[in-house]
Amino acid sequence: MPRIYESRKRVLVTGGAGFLGSHLIDRILAQGHEVVCVDNLFTGTKRNIEHMFNNPRFEFIRHDVTFPLYVEVDEIYNLACPASPIHYQHDPIQTTKTSVHGAINMLGLAKRLKAKIFQASTSEVYGDPAVHPQAEEYWGNVNPIGPRSCYDEGKRCAETLFFDYHRQVGLEIKVARIFNTYGPRMHHADGRVVSNFVVQALAGEPLTIYGDGSQTRSFCYVDDLVEGFLRLMDTGPEVTGPINIGNPNEFTIRELAEKTIQRAQTGSRLVTHSLPADDPKQRQPNISKASELLGWAPIVELDEGLDRTIEYFRSRLIELRSA
Ligand code: NAD
Ligand code: UDP
Ligand code: UDP
Repeated sequence: MPRIYESRKRVLVTGGAGFLGSHLIDRILAQGHEVVCVDNLFTGTKRNIEHMFNNPRFEFIRHDVTFPLYVEVDEIYNLACPASPIHYQHDPIQTTKTSVHGAINMLGLAKRLKAKIFQASTSEVYGDPAVHPQAEEYWGNVNPIGPRSCYDEGKRCAETLFFDYHRQVGLEIKVARIFNTYGPRMHHADGRVVSNFVVQALAGEPLTIYGDGSQTRSFCYVDDLVEGFLRLMDTGPEVTGPINIGNPNEFTIRELAEKTIQRAQTGSRLVTHSLPADDPKQRQPNISKASELLGWAPIVELDEGLDRTIEYFRSRLIELRSA
């Protein structure tokens, strides 16, 4: 049936109550579209989306994507999946199910609706990379049976499914490989490095460096990342990805800890803990494809992004203490 308001899209965002999903929804609503947010609230919270509840163009459905979903939408962003190692290793079987069964259900939905579908893939598909920086052509170095495998292999299988639905039934797909992203609305206790360090620094506690801190990551501020998502969704059908979206500025974890202490102006010291199994030693995106195909590059430097994140956690921690 033709839509009444042709220019207004109805967009499904799975995992919309999470960190990235809630920022993405803010942008889509600001563009005047409708959003159906689907989330089982495993790691996401209503708090991330409660400011949208009065918006008539916003709807929340509490649902687990491993079960079929029948809704009518024009575009789908599939973000549902725990992202922090602590969360995805909490129930690894459910993590694989979320990635794989979740992808099958969302792809089946997209097939029925002939809707464009975006997949939040990850730099973890490169595993502990033997090629540096990582370009999309690199096939990765992933342990299939380790504690991180539920996430890495689940996301790899989801990519396989996306490309098979594209080849077999002509589905229009957009696969983004997201590199470490940080910013407001990260869960204060989700265990990822930026939230851990900022929360520890603000509490004046020691910052916990796993291993010797020489491993590297490249940190992207959430607003930059979401801009990349929107641009990728807006490309023509010939652009399928996978496309790396991340900030190529690479830091050691020790450098990140020192920077956090400096920006938060705290007297915290550093302590070392053991390194988790299969922790990737280095990670840096090659973003030539995103630059060429989307005209996209990140603009928020780590110092500025950290300042905004510290500001967010400062008020969040006050709220938590008074709750
Ligand atoms: P998050 O944990 O804040 O958000 C994930 C959301 O998915 C949560 O709201 C959670 O409740 C929901 N969810 C989990 N399992 C579900 C299920 N079975 N059914 C319905 N909802 C479910 O994490 P995030 O950082 O916002 O990550 C969003 C997506 O981006 C994930 O797919 C993640 O793998 C991907 N990603 C994130 C990063 C990053 O640095 N943030 C990096 C690479 C990839
Ligand atoms: N599916 C869904 N919503 C829809 C259409 C399909 O959740 O609107 C699910 C359905 O449960 C199915 C999966 O998507 O298992 C894959 O759909 P597809 O049509 O590819 O496979 P089939 O239904 O033939 O198994
Ligand atoms: N890390 C750390 N201290 C922490 C949390 C994480 O040193 O309190 C390290 C972790 O071992 C990894 C890097 O920081 O090398 C990034 O971890 P995160 O869990 O944020 O994401 P990953 O890229 O490993 O999925």
